[in-house]
Amino acid sequence: MEYERIKKTMDRQKRIALVAHDNKKMDLVEWCKKHEDTLKQHFLMGTGTTSRLIAEATGLPVRAFKSGPLGGDQQIGARIAEGLIDMLIFFWDPLEAQPHDPDVKALLRIAAVYDIPIANNRATADFIMASKHMNQEYTHEVCDYNKLLSERVAKVAEEK
Ligand code: PGA
Repeated sequence: MEYERIKKTMDRQKRIALVAHDNKKMDLVEWCKKHEDTLKQHFLMGTGTTSRLIAEATGLPVRAFKSGPLGGDQQIGARIAEGLIDMLIFFWDPLEAQPHDPDVKALLRIAAVYDIPIANNRATADFIMASKHMNQEYTHEVCDYNKLLSERVAKVAEEK
């Protein structure tokens, strides 16, 4: 199905969500230290434990949501849907099942729906930090979900 698209613009200052599974937390902390100069120019938030560890290790302000297994991934997903998050740095663990695997899948899915940049590993996260789009506004096209909603309502009403 082809969707109509609308343009969305991210500000120069990005709202970045940070999440790491337990075996990846130290990786993400190290990565944040490496990119501290860039990250301090943006707004940071993340799941509970990850946020706390990053804030303690770097001194960067990180808004903490609930811990991932307790709903933090879903809080971040909801904010992506509301247009309140521009980017997701999510070091998930490909070698270990998580109690909240459905939430992990949902978060990755909603990030894809809203076409936000997602880094699932360090290399991708490094590439994102090196992008010229980090220092300027960035306009991308996303599906016009309001239009889609109206069409769905009309279709269901028609079939009644
Ligand atoms: P945590 O959540 O930062 O609270 O550990 C991360 C996750 O597992 O989603």
